[in-house]
Amino acid sequence: MSTPTVTLNDLILSRMEEIAEDAWNASRALRITGQGGRVIDLGTASTWEEWTCCADHGDDLCDQPLLTSEQAATLIGQVVDFSLPNPSFPAVEVQHLAEYGFETVELFHLSDVTAEFRKVNG
Ligand SMILES: [Zn+2]
Repeated sequence: MSTPTVTLNDLILSRMEEIAEDAWNASRALRITGQGGRVIDLGTASTWEEWTCCADHGDDLCDQPLLTSEQAATLIGQVVDFSLPNPSFPAVEVQHLAEYGFETVELFHLSDVTAEFRKVNG
């Protein structure tokens, strides 16, 4: 019997699963895999939903797409020095696989990103 080879892909996949589990336990952020997410259009930009908020903020299940700051910046059209001051929902921190490895990113609710978009674009 041969020893199964653990590839880098396997390691990344299992790390992604851990991240998804942590995000779910900590903030009820649900990671969307594959093509399961919604397409989010704002202005002339669009992106793909990668996370959904399944938290209950007081009245009902939220069910809003959660966007990374990179996605939010793209949608708002403010790629340099992006920040989202005073979001009405607190940002959710998750680990994200970026170009040079895993890093912590903030996820913002779509309603906050849309509000900021209106502010920036009038
Ligand atoms: Zn929410």
